[in-house]
Amino acid sequence: YFISIEGSDGSGKSTQLEKMVAYLRERCPRVEVTREPGGTAVAEKIRELILDPENRAMTARAEMLLYAASRAQHVEEKILPLLEEGTVVVTDRFTDSSIAYQAYGRGLGDMVAEVNRIATGGLEPDLTIFLDLSPEAGIARKRREDRHELDRLELEALAFHEKVYKGYDVLCGENRERIVRIDADRPVEEVFSQIRQTLDGALRE
Ligand code: C5P
Repeated sequence: YFISIEGSDGSGKSTQLEKMVAYLRERCPRVEVTREPGGTAVAEKIRELILDPENRAMTARAEMLLYAASRAQHVEEKILPLLEEGTVVVTDRFTDSSIAYQAYGRGLGDMVAEVNRIATGGLEPDLTIFLDLSPEAGIARKRREDRHELDRLELEALAFHEKVYKGYDVLCGENRERIVRIDADRPVEEVFSQIRQTLDGALRE
């Protein structure tokens, strides 16, 4: 069983992922957690390339192809073998992130889905948890945490994150069976309670 978790900056993805994995480990004999970009030695090197501030000159297409390269390695080397042995795999981000950030955020459009079909060989999560936090609410959250940093980044960040959010919104509409949209603008325990119900339903199937 293959599960991905998606969400924008400040949506509480790391916290919920941790709780989700702990919950799954109580119920399933084998659970592996992994992340993107990265997840294997080669893919982590690609991640370093993408995230290195010295590579600021990297174009949107080059970045998108590196994300896809990292995903191809991750799928073939790690995710598929685990799924084949019956392990529940939980990944922090997957193709939906590329659609949201690269296709919508960076404006690369349909080519992102096309490239990712090649990268994943068509593998899709059985279930995707999308932590839904509007860009405005995300910014308000960050403002409480780090006011100074926010003032500097606020304007350009808001425009970009609105595009990313639009991408997730479209994905949710097109994948109603797979993506469960969870309102993340609530206390941690309330959000997790809904995730737990979703997992219970999925595991019963
Ligand atoms: O998962 P995490 O919040 O650590 O991701 C960090 C950032 O990486 C995201 O907020 C986003 O800016 C970027 N990212 C991206 N394209 C992806 C995945 C992540 O731009 N496909």
